[in-house]
Amino acid sequence: MTKSAELFQQAKRTIPGGVNSPVRAFAGVGGDPIFVERADGAYIYDADGKAYIDFIGSWGPMILGHNHPAIRDAVVSAAQNGLSFGAPTAREITLAELVSEIVPSMEMVRMVNSGTEATMSAIRLARGFTGRDKFIKFEGNYHGHADCLLVKAGSGALTLGEPTSPGVPADFAKHTLTCTFNDLTSVREMFDAYPEDISCIIVEPVAGNMNCIPPQPGFLEGLRELCDQFGALLIFDEVMTGFRVALGGAQAHYGVKPDLTTLGKVIGGGMPVGAFGGRREVMEYIAPTGPVYQAGTLSGNPIAMAAGTTALSILRAEGNEQHLAEITKRLALGFKEAADRHGVPLAINQVGGMFGFFFTDKEQVTSFADVQQCSIDKFKRFFHLMLERGVYLAPSAFEASFTSLAHGDKEIEATLAAADQAFHILSTE
Ligand code: PMP
Repeated sequence: MTKSAELFQQAKRTIPGGVNSPVRAFAGVGGDPIFVERADGAYIYDADGKAYIDFIGSWGPMILGHNHPAIRDAVVSAAQNGLSFGAPTAREITLAELVSEIVPSMEMVRMVNSGTEATMSAIRLARGFTGRDKFIKFEGNYHGHADCLLVKAGSGALTLGEPTSPGVPADFAKHTLTCTFNDLTSVREMFDAYPEDISCIIVEPVAGNMNCIPPQPGFLEGLRELCDQFGALLIFDEVMTGFRVALGGAQAHYGVKPDLTTLGKVIGGGMPVGAFGGRREVMEYIAPTGPVYQAGTLSGNPIAMAAGTTALSILRAEGNEQHLAEITKRLALGFKEAADRHGVPLAINQVGGMFGFFFTDKEQVTSFADVQQCSIDKFKRFFHLMLERGVYLAPSAFEASFTSLAHGDKEIEATLAAADQAFHILSTE
């Protein structure tokens, strides 16, 4: 028995399912999860000492690679001055200004502790600001686990086959309207049905929780127009896409400006943090300047601020954005070529440092319905063949995978060599 398997048995005795976040349990692919002992650059090392090239990157934040020395130093140095004060610090201003510079639509920024808090608070703010209760989300988009957002959500919820969760009273979800991603007609119809009641649309501008689905041309622009027409706010949930699909996020990549943006993960360089921000007039509507309540004892934590400021300062250096996109494109094309070589039908989506692959005959995967038609069995088999060969992909057919600037030629070549073998095996089964 491996050390990971032993730890999993032990963990299950005191931690539900042995994990603190469901998708980590490998429920989507079967088998025992690997327990991580340490990580460095593009690699994670499990409890048995085996190395893996990591394409999860802590689910996104590790854009610079694991254990980056400058971030580690910033954390250590900040920790020497105390871990938390529950009072304002200069570090919060530095990070807020940096975020605002990189994502100019975020004229004001409020720090929180997770992506879930960011989206939950942004929706409350949009509802408070507009005085309307309803909001639109898209089937297969995931925005964290706040009650009103756990409706037809993606990611772990999809993996478990539970699009909605027990424990969410129907009354709490009744104002959540669900439309179809990449289908503007479904959104227009919703506005026609409730022209005065919709506070906002929240969308993953590149969906990353039903695998990776980019917006079709005109989709994000259309959302912007509908929001303007009906007096609703547009919220881009850039928890995954922020700093990754482009330095300025999906809004920079596609040139569409939301009213509010939610960020997570990445802005803490790996520390637990999130943020939401946007138009000054809207942001001033939160406490203490405005009536919409939002708070957090650990929000703006000095260690997280130090890590985030260092991570973003390094990331914004010239050439990084292009380099990340190039590495990822090379990888995505390499996967496709290897699959073609072995006659395995495969479609690939890639935007910046984010990609996903689909076992399907379709040339293009553009909708949640397309994703649902892909072969989950082939994905599971491929996942394990790659894991055996030292490549750690997202353990679910409904998650995007991520690259980092630490993924060099050596890692890309090793990954593609493993993929070649895995596709060969798949083609013979
Ligand atoms: N929004 C999106 C787009 C996400 O991908 C996630 C988590 N993967 C969240 C929100 C929730 O973030 P957290 O897990 O930090 O609460």
